[in-house]
Amino acid sequence: MRTAFIGLGVMGYPMAGHLARAGHEVSVFNRTPAKAERWVAEYGGRAAFSIAEAVAGAELAALCVGDDADVRQVADAALPALAEGAILVDHTTASAKLARALADEAQARGVSFLDAPVSGGQAGAEAGQLAIMVGGEAAALERAAPVIGVYAKAIRHMGGPGAGQLTKFVNQICIAGVVQGLAEAVHFAHRAGLDPTAVCEAISQGAAQSWQMDNRWRTMAEGKFDFGFAVDWMRKDLRLVLDEARSNGARLEVTALVDQFYAEVQALGGGRWDTSSLAARLMRDG
Ligand code: NAP
Repeated sequence: MRTAFIGLGVMGYPMAGHLARAGHEVSVFNRTPAKAERWVAEYGGRAAFSIAEAVAGAELAALCVGDDADVRQVADAALPALAEGAILVDHTTASAKLARALADEAQARGVSFLDAPVSGGQAGAEAGQLAIMVGGEAAALERAAPVIGVYAKAIRHMGGPGAGQLTKFVNQICIAGVVQGLAEAVHFAHRAGLDPTAVCEAISQGAAQSWQMDNRWRTMAEGKFDFGFAVDWMRKDLRLVLDEARSNGARLEVTALVDQFYAEVQALGGGRWDTSSLAARLMRDG
């Protein structure tokens, strides 16, 4: 299929790479051109000079940028340049409100818009093993799924426009609480004089087991945070989550508290640290 990918960041770069490796024609655009040139040198395809040029003639265009304002900028450039019948897939974690607005604007131009945020992090993007949660028309997803499936292990249609983003918010609510619990557990084990590795081995086969425990306990105990999903991104996501909760009335007591703990991590200089750095906040006094 003729495709375009906009935003070759930590996530977008390998995702676009999977499209090229699967044999799709890919036009890429990145705001900082050097990344697009590096991508073309690695995967072939074509680096466009503008978003409009990248998406012109594409049957499916995907983007993975930063926040609402970035998605709005990209969509404003992409929508008028897309052909009727094309699909615009947004993999950014952004607000459900924006997804609904873009779905309407796209529809008015005969384009289908899917909000399709992802979970699985950099490792999932590189391995082509992301979980993708999608809002928008089922028929558009049916056409898009074989294409975006090259970087997914699971794709799930969650409902109309915005439902993909709302599902991603649920994902982030789960993560915030679990990571804080794990950080407290590591901190407690340390204060209690227990061997953290032995504790993890003893409890990770039981009810305390989680992805976070399997993948982050050791690095938390070792105080290693210079990798993974950045606290700055998590705070952006929690802002979107808490905004949505203010309008739907959901009570997110722990999530709101953990958001403030992440603000403290940012103040410690940890904006780019992994989300597991909630442990750094507890361990800073030894
Ligand atoms: P990133 O490495 O910072 O990359 C962001 C990309 O978007 C860059 O290519 C950047 O271009 C481009 N961009 C940003 N604003 C733009 C704008 N206004 N116009 C055009 N291009 C713009 O971020 P990432 O880690 O790939 O994350 C991207 C999205 O995926 C975020 O919404 C994040 O929350 C979500 N996400 C990330 C992860 C993860 O583990 N990293 C996991 C799940 C979801 P430049 O190169 O010019 O800066």
